[in-house]
Amino acid sequence: LNPENSNYSPDELDVEKQLRPLSFDDFTGQEQVLENLQIFVQAANQREEALDHTLFHGPPGLGKTTLAHILANELDVGIKITSGPVLDKPGDLAGLLTNLSPRDVLFIDEIHRLSPIVEEYLYSAMEDFRIDIMIETGPNARSVQIELEPFTLVGATTRSGLLTAPMRARFGISSRLQYYNTELLTTIVQRSAHILQVPISMEAAIEIAGRSRGTPRIANALLRRVRDFAQIKGNGSITIEIAKYALEALNVDAHGLDEMDNKILSTIIDKFKGGPVGITTIATAVGESSETIEEVYEPFLIQEGFIMRTPRGREVTEAAYKHLGRKRNRPGEL
Ligand code: ADP
Repeated sequence: LNPENSNYSPDELDVEKQLRPLSFDDFTGQEQVLENLQIFVQAANQREEALDHTLFHGPPGLGKTTLAHILANELDVGIKITSGPVLDKPGDLAGLLTNLSPRDVLFIDEIHRLSPIVEEYLYSAMEDFRIDIMIETGPNARSVQIELEPFTLVGATTRSGLLTAPMRARFGISSRLQYYNTELLTTIVQRSAHILQVPISMEAAIEIAGRSRGTPRIANALLRRVRDFAQIKGNGSITIEIAKYALEALNVDAHGLDEMDNKILSTIIDKFKGGPVGITTIATAVGESSETIEEVYEPFLIQEGFIMRTPRGREVTEAAYKHLGRKRNRPGEL
């Protein structure tokens, strides 16, 4: 269930598409972000202009791709989708850009992974809606300038810290998505259950929501697995008993923490006496980059009250000891 590795089967990707909200009204949570976007879209629609380039950043599975689609729908334009690692030649980018209709959305996922050459190339496209392309080769080679239709680049990144400053400066709109609380996730689980036509009790929806690590993608994935249990072990409805049984069988953490979350907590406790300890030291000990820990794991652990940031480093809280079933050895105790 790690949202970072996308080894979902094609079927699951289809279901994910099916569960994707299509309009602002359909989208739950991220209220502030949504309110602003609605104004920007309305204004752009009135002026019949392209929406300003928009950057979404935040942990995986919180709705960045979904929002890119919603923007295209609400602008009533087409959307072309690509991602940083896929776009490795300026020629590929030129092909995409010259095929855009006026006001279209070009969505680039993982935009922090664009190669420097492609990124450079994107700058003039974003700024002046113009690109230079090389035609012919050898002594006749020359570059010609091509005018593009005005378009909106929507970029998504889990690692805004890795975005170059010139890239960041070219986005007129930049929104950070936050983790969802249990109440919002409950609404999302209920909506998804409705689409999947599986009856679910309120209690069961809350149970699934509370174990979803603040992430709609995880909530939807858990719902689909619990649905399987309901179908085989029950009568098809998701009751609280079925939900608890399934989540237990699936080994889903009581707070929705994933393997790396737990590894970070247990490392701080076992190797560093609960902290405080520096982020780079933690990173080395768990075998993950400190940027990923800071941008993907830590925000959730802090939000849920398992880790505190102190001037001397990170410290785990009492709640972390309790969660891992450990006892804190205070100085002087055995
Ligand atoms: P990201 O691009 O940030 O990794 P996605 O936009 O792909 O995340 O969202 C992952 C899944 O979670 C999608 O299938 C979508 O249906 C669901 N989802 C995300 N945000 C919401 C939301 N606010 N309301 C309902 N479903 C959501």
